[in-house]
Amino acid sequence: MNEVLPRLRSVLDDLPGFRPGPVHAAANGTVHLLAANESPDGPLPSVAAAVADAIGDINRYPDGAVTALNEDIARRLGTDPDQVVVGCGSVGVAQMLFEAVGEPGAEVVYAWRSFEAYPVLAALAGLRKVAVPLRGDRHDLTAMAAAITADTRLVIVCNPNNPTGTVMRRAEIERFLAAVPADCLVVFDEAYHEYVRDADVPDALTLLDGRPNVVVLRTFSKAFGLAGLRVGYLVAHPHVAAQVRKTRLPYAVNHLAQVAARASLRAEDELRARVEDVVKERDRMRNALLDAGWSVPASEANLLWLKLGDESVGFAAACAASGVNVKAFPGEGVRVSVGAPAANDALLAVAFDYSRPSEH
Ligand SMILES: *Cc1c(COP(=O)(O)O)cnc(C)c1O
Repeated sequence: MNEVLPRLRSVLDDLPGFRPGPVHAAANGTVHLLAANESPDGPLPSVAAAVADAIGDINRYPDGAVTALNEDIARRLGTDPDQVVVGCGSVGVAQMLFEAVGEPGAEVVYAWRSFEAYPVLAALAGLRKVAVPLRGDRHDLTAMAAAITADTRLVIVCNPNNPTGTVMRRAEIERFLAAVPADCLVVFDEAYHEYVRDADVPDALTLLDGRPNVVVLRTFSKAFGLAGLRVGYLVAHPHVAAQVRKTRLPYAVNHLAQVAARASLRAEDELRARVEDVVKERDRMRNALLDAGWSVPASEANLLWLKLGDESVGFAAACAASGVNVKAFPGEGVRVSVGAPAANDALLAVAFDYSRPSEH
């Protein structure tokens, strides 16, 4: 008997779906989580207490307008609350942006390899994808500008880039912005902004002035340590913010996320100190790998990109055997999060043991 299946969007046939890999443990049970660029530290006591206090209210819907957090973010950044849109993780906000521009014929331009969510969100929003290859592990802004057509509605600059950790600097970004049509949105995904130490990398908020097409995307998932609660935001021209805000699902930002994000803003100094530790560890890890003859692009994020090519899967398996969980991109490289010192040492131990051909 032939079963007739309902017709769904054909674009779904090409999507892999989100498949989390298994968590690998060493024989002695040790697990190090270096695959998702999370903060290695648990919540600060003040943040945990705020969330615990808020538990009593979860029979009620959250504030659907995210009023207080929206205001806190605006005050912290020195922008108008009208310019801020909070969403369910910055991936949720990115989805809102894609929804806001997605109509038949519209295109999105992004670098590749970059954040894996972009092609998925583009497909779901019905946007044509234009992926511009990296050049020397960095965005090729000249090629990206050249790829823009009259149908391009959105260009994404992931700065620092995931998974390479590389950055684009102010002069080249300003040249790029001058080349982008004024009616095409340029989104700076700054998920790793807090880890940047290169003074020539612009805070994209400084690019907003006089440019209604610039959008800055930030998250509480990385430096602020709230990956499990899902909260991120954008900053943009008030018109862009108001339109994009309409695409937010009702109550998309849950109550505990709103409370935790507000508490995290109050504890920013403590969180910045943690970020400083990660930055030190990043440089220690990279220097150790360079000394051992590996080639690792300079990273301004809480991750390192090991360009292992065909050996990426093999190296990730060697890591897994030691309980070190990393992210392999078959045929390209392995992305390693910078975690706590013990986890980083475990990764380095695997790397130093790994028998490798001359190239990396
Ligand atoms: C981790 C990451 C994010 C954060 O996503 P959330 O939904 O806020 O957790 C956004 N953009 C990039 C490039 C990332 O690597």
